[in-house]
Amino acid sequence: MDHPFLSTPKLGFGLMRLPKLADGAIDIEQTKEMVDLFLDAGLTYFDTAFVYDGGQSEIAAGKALVARHPRESFTLATKLNVRVSADQSSAEQQLLTSLERTGAGYFDYYLLHAISSGNLPKYDEYRIWDYAARMKEKGLVKHWGFSFHDSPELLDRLLTNHPDAEFVQLQINYADWESDSVASRRNLEVARAHGKPVVVMEPVRGGALANPPQRVRDILAAADPAASPASWAIRFVASQPGIMTVLSGMSNLDQMKDNISYMRNFRPFSAEESAVMENARRALLDVPSIPCTGCSYCTEGCPMQIHIPDIFSARNRDIIFGQTEFAKRRYQQITADSSGADQCIQCGQCEAACPQKLPIIDLLRQAAEAFA
Ligand code: SF4
Ligand code: SF4
Repeated sequence: MDHPFLSTPKLGFGLMRLPKLADGAIDIEQTKEMVDLFLDAGLTYFDTAFVYDGGQSEIAAGKALVARHPRESFTLATKLNVRVSADQSSAEQQLLTSLERTGAGYFDYYLLHAISSGNLPKYDEYRIWDYAARMKEKGLVKHWGFSFHDSPELLDRLLTNHPDAEFVQLQINYADWESDSVASRRNLEVARAHGKPVVVMEPVRGGALANPPQRVRDILAAADPAASPASWAIRFVASQPGIMTVLSGMSNLDQMKDNISYMRNFRPFSAEESAVMENARRALLDVPSIPCTGCSYCTEGCPMQIHIPDIFSARNRDIIFGQTEFAKRRYQQITADSSGADQCIQCGQCEAACPQKLPIIDLLRQAAEAFA
């Protein structure tokens, strides 16, 4: 596949997990250092969203990136999310708010955010597809596309119905490569069949593949003791044909230095490296875990304000790594000032919002039992 977007540097800076200060605010000074390091390495793609950190991510992009670097030296993507808008006009207002927060003047890439069968009717009802195209005509958006969490069949239908969408953003990683729920490989193939470049999200599955189970680490380390597990995960997806860039949600300078070390002069996988990755992928399938990416889409509508992804993260420390006492302590910290897993009233709002289609109610019941 030949497409001008495919000349984009293969590492993108995802601004959804920026470093935080003790009071929970984004650490702007460290973010500035990360932005500078990223640009110095010849990398250019930044990705935020209207809903990230309640708008703080876009504001941080404005302060750390837009206000300090020539506008043409980087590309900035953001996203419109109908989930937080009660009507069409407030959904459309999101773009203007995003422009105000960032001061960017225009967005290089604008996305309809996290489309799934659950929220698609709202994107259709609000005619956001037409809105994105109109904003492109006005020059507020250079290119538009959508991020997607659903089946290859739905992706095929959307790209058929909206051929002017210029790219798609998909969850692709080696853990989800053949999964039924995420279907990384099959969704990528659908995008390629429609000639759409793909921006990759969750290449290390919310950080989990940076610390995979020991048996996976052993396979990777035997092949290259110097390469981090995260480097294997990111290079795996960047090596696939049709990839525009791979977003890494870097949270500190060390992660950025590690990412840049192997992505600055990106080298696709050799045949031998692909074989190693396939062994690691199969080994990972044998380890049970909760495949939660930490996206937090489930928490906003929870009437009990249960910290679902944090609870699953603690549970995975136990399930994957056998760190039972650590996991229990972590659970106690998480639930010290909020509802516990046992306070779920089974309303189902979280399950409807979860892009991974996790059986959250049942998983919370299991967590409540394990951490009792
Ligand atoms: S089912 Fe439970 S965890 Fe999910 S939104 Fe309802 S109360 Fe919250
Ligand atoms: S449970 Fe689902 S919606 Fe909630 S953080 Fe995990 S993956 Fe995201």
